[in-house]
Amino acid sequence: QYDAGVTDCLFCRIVAGEIPATVVTETDTTLAFRDIDPKAPTHVLVIPKEHHQAVGDLDPALAGQVLATAHQVAKSEGIDSSGYRLVFNTGRDGGQTVFHVHCHVLGGRALTWPPG
Ligand code: 5GP
Ligand code: ZN
Repeated sequence: QYDAGVTDCLFCRIVAGEIPATVVTETDTTLAFRDIDPKAPTHVLVIPKEHHQAVGDLDPALAGQVLATAHQVAKSEGIDSSGYRLVFNTGRDGGQTVFHVHCHVLGGRALTWPPG
């Protein structure tokens, strides 16, 4: 859990309101905000408010809440019917750069597959 001045997690600081972010939606346990460097017309990050490093560290209920918020974002962004992608980059080979678990919600254009 986040302790001001003790941890230095970027996304915990966004949850704490110490770093500004464009919030899309919020629940008791999750926060969705726009990626600062969007890779698609819709690029939103959904995080648990509680600090966990990676998707494997989430209990199933919290993981489900993150997914439910991601789907809510897809609906509110108007990409639920055209299609979208949910991505959890995990660890070194997964390209994770922020070690507070986050689900990328990407859409608004045709996405290529496979990723690089
Ligand atoms: P990762 O590479 O760990 O899967 O994704 C981290 C994401 O966080 C990247 O897409 C990056 O653009 C985004 N990001 C990094 N710093 C910030 C920030 O300060 N604010 C926001 N909104 N997004 C950030
Ligand atoms: Zn954190």
